[in-house]
Amino acid sequence: MNKASKTAISPTRAEDYPEWYQQVIRHADLAENSPVRGCMVIKPWGYALWENMQRVLDKKFKETGHQNAYFPLFIPMSYLEKEAEHVEGFAKECAVVTHHRLEADPETGGLRPAGPLEEPLIVRPTSETIIGAMYAKWVQSYRDLPILINQWANVVRWEMRTRLFLRTAEFLWQEGHTVHATKEEAIEETYKMLDVYADFAENYMAVPVIKGEKTAGERFPGADITVSIEAMMQDRKALQAGTSHFLGQNFSRAQEIKFQDQNSEISYAWTTSWGVSTRLIGALIMTHSDDDGMVIPPKIAPAHAVILPIYRDETQRAEVLAYCQELKQELSKQAYAGRAIEVELDDRDLRGGEKKWYHVKRGVPLRIEVGPKDMAKDAVFLARRDTGKQESMGRADLLANLLSILDDMQANLLTRAKAMREEFTQEINSEAEFRKYFTPKNADNPEFHGGFAMCYFSSEEEVQPLLDELKVTIRCIPIDDNDTPGICFLTGKPAEKKGVFAKAY
Ligand code: AMP
Repeated sequence: MNKASKTAISPTRAEDYPEWYQQVIRHADLAENSPVRGCMVIKPWGYALWENMQRVLDKKFKETGHQNAYFPLFIPMSYLEKEAEHVEGFAKECAVVTHHRLEADPETGGLRPAGPLEEPLIVRPTSETIIGAMYAKWVQSYRDLPILINQWANVVRWEMRTRLFLRTAEFLWQEGHTVHATKEEAIEETYKMLDVYADFAENYMAVPVIKGEKTAGERFPGADITVSIEAMMQDRKALQAGTSHFLGQNFSRAQEIKFQDQNSEISYAWTTSWGVSTRLIGALIMTHSDDDGMVIPPKIAPAHAVILPIYRDETQRAEVLAYCQELKQELSKQAYAGRAIEVELDDRDLRGGEKKWYHVKRGVPLRIEVGPKDMAKDAVFLARRDTGKQESMGRADLLANLLSILDDMQANLLTRAKAMREEFTQEINSEAEFRKYFTPKNADNPEFHGGFAMCYFSSEEEVQPLLDELKVTIRCIPIDDNDTPGICFLTGKPAEKKGVFAKAY
């Protein structure tokens, strides 16, 4: 506990946002840096969060007709070379395996790689090429289509600047890869999965997102259309939280994914791919957490509540613990958002204050303290992590209201995040306004930037120099409410659509 500022996390968000982010992760025991450059260790509390995300997403993928499968970690270099744009986009970030054994090095006394491979293998940065090679074998006729497969896997992209969860060299993700007989069907799939991601972000993670199309410069290497969900973090920067790609026939031509249609003619198939990663945990942290640490929406929290028994001596301890265990059982009989209520009972021999702050910092949604005085009233002392509200509540009331309290917390977090995004979103119509919006106010606050700027723009090429100068990016061209043409904020030319402009992670 930081006595001066009375916050559990130091520095606070206002003092030093990037350092606050690292400290929240440390104090919530979510993950830590490993001895391997750019690679993190995800610790049990963080991994349980990922498992909850996986569980919900996996169900949604299956409900939309997909099945899971698994493909190799290694991709022969020649496979990656087949799609020109794809290899160009990923070449700079590839980990390459060139040998297949180690041998003693007489010069150093240590080991050295030996047994050079005939063809180097790439550790998958994404699996279009290796999966496509299999699809080329599996697809012969229109009857074999569509193929709707998802893979849960790890991938490696040799990122130069890494940050826990947001950008790591190895990360966990899912990648959907589908093949369709028609362009229309593949485009429909691309947008359908974007909707699945947006629904998950808003209704489970309580992270409001903008769905939109990426401009040519920001597209996935090899895609015809990339759509993404973009979220605003509490420092008003944007985070791309998920992407879905319409790959046209680019990969099917490169990899010969062909089929005989109903008229016995041979056509190239249409493919898509879509993915979300452990970056979602970063999005969650930076959307909801506060100066006391992690805040987790109940629908994906690894535990919904923690019971903290309070007692002075051994006789009290037995009574209080018995009461707490029974309460835990009763609470666990209920289910919320498709999952039994998970309750921890923390009877570790720790000072009360220390124990309380431990759970505050981890972001357990409800803290339930029970001591002899509460027991005498058949009541508990209940604290909400989102609002900090604390009150005495009858045990029966807690049991009766538990689900509506969790619902209220879930809704409150989304409302709060939406309000913040609205407060820092502005329509901008001139270069001068745009510059002002994205220029730090003063030297004391160099990180300051306005937030999301909604601007009409005539072309990516024309605005790019200004964006480079101000270190701003076009996040996406929103899909919703974007049908009225306007005037470009920079060139004054007519413009079809508005874009979301922001500084970004
Ligand atoms: P992409 O294949 O580039 O469209 O990325 C798919 C998903 O993975 C997107 O949701 C990205 O936000 C996420 N992602 C991309 N690179 C990284 C990284 N280095 N660490 C964590 N997540 C990433």
